[in-house]
Amino acid sequence: MERGEAKSKKAGGPPRLCCICNERRPVLKRPRTLQQICRECFYEVFEEEIHQAIVNNGLFKSGERVAIGASGGKDSTVLAYVLSELNKRHSYGLDLFLLSIDEGITGYRDDSLETVKRNELQYGLPLKILSYKDLYGWTMDDIVKMIGLKNNCTFCGVFRRQALDRGAALLKVDKLVTGHNADDIAETVLLNILRGDIARLSRCTSITTGEDGPIPRCKPFKYTYEKEIKLDYFSTECIYSPNAYRGFAREFIKDLERLRPRAILDIIKSGEDFRIATTTKMPEQGTCERCGYISSQRVLLDGLNRGLPKMSIGRARGGGVNGGDHKKETKAGSTVKTLESKQCGSLDF
Ligand code: SF4
Repeated sequence: MERGEAKSKKAGGPPRLCCICNERRPVLKRPRTLQQICRECFYEVFEEEIHQAIVNNGLFKSGERVAIGASGGKDSTVLAYVLSELNKRHSYGLDLFLLSIDEGITGYRDDSLETVKRNELQYGLPLKILSYKDLYGWTMDDIVKMIGLKNNCTFCGVFRRQALDRGAALLKVDKLVTGHNADDIAETVLLNILRGDIARLSRCTSITTGEDGPIPRCKPFKYTYEKEIKLDYFSTECIYSPNAYRGFAREFIKDLERLRPRAILDIIKSGEDFRIATTTKMPEQGTCERCGYISSQRVLLDGLNRGLPKMSIGRARGGGVNGGDHKKETKAGSTVKTLESKQCGSLDF
């Protein structure tokens, strides 16, 4: 607002007003529309856009139980608030829950879980917390002590995915929603192109994924800019985040946004419009014969328990034309889905 006001004063004209209500002074310029609007109008249009994304994409049905993946970060905190508001305002008829995963990262997750516990009280949503320690017998602190900082996100990402599925099953929910926003999705489109990961590229722009799996996942913030998601949040990065490749893609997207704010939505649109040749061989998801979950999780856990974590990464990772997503034969004869080390979020798509 100050900038707009200063310009008007310099030019000697009246102060600029919000282009929606035409009464109050604008406090921000929306990246998507370049409109200058006031705080009150911003909240209104922000929430209405999320409502439209939910309705136009048929994300929920009345009576469904829905878990909000709550990390205590800004995106999931705002998602919990907006979804509980819209549920009341538009009578969606949803039973909402907060589902958090405690990876066991001292100084990071223990702090952010405090935010989630506050959200439980603020929004009156029941909270379930599952920990890696209880599920797998290992915390991320233990894993990093054993394997170092290089491949930690491979373990963490695979374990989190299964932990969320298990939490969703315990809560008996029909859907899981996550706070992935437009910037995250644009980054993932770019990363999947850079890695040649056709399988993920073909699904990373979908607003709902995993409809053929145990629990569909939805992203109501698919079209929402990160810049606009600001509320009561805890914003420290994970202390084990490698931040290299994804961090570079993130910076690149932010540079593009500075030059042309629509770039984020245009990248998502490009991702949506990609056509994958019907002759392209797609990877198949392997499942563990013992526990029924994705087999890479079992391979990683076996490696940790046998004190051979690096060997398990070797067996759970791979490269090749389509990135690290091929099936491989293990010594035991079972097939595993191969992975690359990716930090938070990238494995959720
Ligand atoms: Fe886990 Fe994310 Fe931290 Fe990597 S950056 S260790 S995936 S919480």
